[in-house]
Amino acid sequence: MRIGIIGAGQLGQMLGFAARKLGDECRFIDPSDSPPAAVCGDVIRKPFDDADALADLAANCDVVTYEFENVPVEALSHIEGKVPVYPPAAALQHSQDRLDEKRLFTDLEIPLSRYRRIDSREDIDAAIDALGLPIVIKTRRLGYDGKGQFIVRSQEDCDEAWQALGGNALIAEAWVPFDYEVSCIGVRNVAGDVAIYPLARNVHVEGILRTSCSPVDAPGLAAKAEDYVRRLLDHLDYVGTLALELFVCGEDLFANEFAPRVHNSGHWSIEGSATSQFENHIRAVLGRPLGSTAPQGHAGMVNLIGEIPDEARNLDVGTLHDYGKSPRPGRKLGHITVTAETGAARDSGIDIIERCVTAST
Ligand code: AMP
Repeated sequence: MRIGIIGAGQLGQMLGFAARKLGDECRFIDPSDSPPAAVCGDVIRKPFDDADALADLAANCDVVTYEFENVPVEALSHIEGKVPVYPPAAALQHSQDRLDEKRLFTDLEIPLSRYRRIDSREDIDAAIDALGLPIVIKTRRLGYDGKGQFIVRSQEDCDEAWQALGGNALIAEAWVPFDYEVSCIGVRNVAGDVAIYPLARNVHVEGILRTSCSPVDAPGLAAKAEDYVRRLLDHLDYVGTLALELFVCGEDLFANEFAPRVHNSGHWSIEGSATSQFENHIRAVLGRPLGSTAPQGHAGMVNLIGEIPDEARNLDVGTLHDYGKSPRPGRKLGHITVTAETGAARDSGIDIIERCVTAST
């Protein structure tokens, strides 16, 4: 079958490889010069909301999906009814606006950090009164990898925060003194069957994901996270892969955000799961049974950001995934996955890779 994918970045590339393995093919829309997914399917080099390009996908594909959450919702409305589009537009809508997303978590009784809507400079003072310090001010829309965020640690930071972000629709969140961060990835297919991956523990550096390791030895947390992901999947009548990012505070979880797509914190699943998040996304949107999400040992992933050092290419640890992108500071260029029989062996592999990557940057 043929899957139309809006976006041809590295997530599209990994979806394309998974589709090829299943005997299916992908066709992408992406305006960029050298999209990573061009190695695994035709790319229509047009803007994501180009009516002709979308009509092409609708006419020539069995289903349309997307690999990033900032696809304009109106773009999908052009093709809805002509071809199945998954995940559903409602999931996109909620994930595109942090305020909307937090209201959804509240409606579904998924715990989250306290927050306030910010529309003016005065609202920042009111948020500090209500939430205490520090607070994190975030743009409601189009933030990613820590971009569009400002940590206000004292009253003196308020003007600078407003100068940096004012003019955008904003929210302020209470600072969460988390022990660590996790994500839970779930998949739901057209028939409503759900499969959940084991929890992954994530480390961010300067707002960008650096490492992700799974499974996490915390059955109580895993059960809670699974319950929250199931609530989202079922409520949204979701089809495809979804990732929920959470803060861990003792035995409690607080939702940070969800992504209606395959996610960087699930890349380990290519080698570390019976079925990767990419393959299960393809299976889900094509209306097929889902594959097993059983872990294959202990897996971990290190992101390669800004450059891929030669030393990282020559390591005898792990499997390198090079997305074929040109180097640029802060850009995700690839990742290395390690799998091992024990968590300790996995962690020492991750350590070797991290030291190599950090030494070279
Ligand atoms: P986000 O773009 O919301 O995923 O934020 C990027 C990263 O910033 C998160 O993964 C956390 O490491 C950190 N962060 C975001 N919001 C908060 C918060 N309210 N409290 C503590 N850390 C946060």
